[in-house]
Amino acid sequence: MQELIEEYDAVEASEMQKLQKLRVFMTDSKFEDFQESIARLEADHPSMKGIYTILDADTVLKEYGIHGASGGALLPAGTVWPYRLVTKVFDALLKKYPGRLTIETNTAVEAVEYDEKFLTPITSVFPYTLRTSRGPMRAASVIYCTNGYSGHLLPCLRGRIHPFKGTMTVQDPGTSIPNQGKFVSWGFHYPPTYEPDTQRHGYGLYYLGQSAKTGYFYFGGENTRIDEAVSADDSFVASHSVSHLQSVLPRFFGKEDKAPWKLVSSWSGIMGFSSDGLPLVGRLSPALTGRRGEGEWIAAAFNGYGMANCLMAGEALALMILGKK
Ligand SMILES: Cc1cc2nc3c(=O)[nH]c(=O)nc-3n(C[C@H](O)[C@H](O)[C@H](O)COP(=O)(O)OP(=O)(O)OC[C@H]3O[C@@H](n4cnc5c(N)ncnc54)[C@H](O)[C@@H]3O)c2cc1C
Repeated sequence: MQELIEEYDAVEASEMQKLQKLRVFMTDSKFEDFQESIARLEADHPSMKGIYTILDADTVLKEYGIHGASGGALLPAGTVWPYRLVTKVFDALLKKYPGRLTIETNTAVEAVEYDEKFLTPITSVFPYTLRTSRGPMRAASVIYCTNGYSGHLLPCLRGRIHPFKGTMTVQDPGTSIPNQGKFVSWGFHYPPTYEPDTQRHGYGLYYLGQSAKTGYFYFGGENTRIDEAVSADDSFVASHSVSHLQSVLPRFFGKEDKAPWKLVSSWSGIMGFSSDGLPLVGRLSPALTGRRGEGEWIAAAFNGYGMANCLMAGEALALMILGKK
């Protein structure tokens, strides 16, 4: 990703930063599980030994100012403003390949059909028809980069891939916290929760970055009813999700006795989660498409880590489609 950002001259626009990520474990059992899994990782992949530095609770509190943790781990990481990066790269690609690349926004694909009879020269080269809200389009191959929405066009994938909503807030801590945005980003791990009375589910992770420029915290996670969380509807931001994030963040910095920090903005987005936690990248079999034909492919289910993983997944998929290793 760093190479891509540099190649497209997007370091400044996307506010790319190399820093350390502090993963914070809020219970002893989470911290123990993590240390065991790092030991297994290092045993299986000796080249990765030493990537994580384990920190005890005292160090997490005294050196990083995080309250209530059972322990932590540091690893080399980076932050980037994804929307700015993606739009800058697409803008450059549109200029570079004006005859080959078009981006059709607000054009939902409503159905995919496969013509297996090859009756005309066109259908033999372009056997797929994409029915869209702006009319049909013919294609030689179809690549689904539809992540959490994949089950809409590929019903056989429902359950294997499901949408999962995440809410983000931007909170202004004012002068109450020193700006550490250049040096560290954070992830907070806690055991998933479920409250039968409210049916609210906390899925076990909060993520946090701080803008080195403004000091604003970008804090996300989800705590909402299961039917709202496992949903592809991002047309609204649940106010209880936002107020939950506003109440949780100051606690991590020991500032819960103060008024909530100013909410600068908030939004929700849909992620694609898979039942085994792994992305789905490759050719779709007729059993999954419900159609004959060998020309349907997918790169989806990034389980909330797509910005980090979908670049190389896309490259791998392109090589597969070209028949290369
Ligand atoms: C709150 C939140 C925080 C996140 N934080 C991180 C993070 O810190 N690090 C990280 O790596 N990732 C993070 N992610 C995940 C990251 O955003 C996704 O993994 C990434 O966007 C996946 O990219 P994608 O192109 O596969 O899918 P998406 O970005 O979901 O894009 C899918 C696209 O398909 C379109 N689409 C769907 N169906 C159709 C159809 N029928 N016709 C036409 N178009 C269709 C949708 O409109 C959408 O534009 C976060 C996500 C959320 C919501």
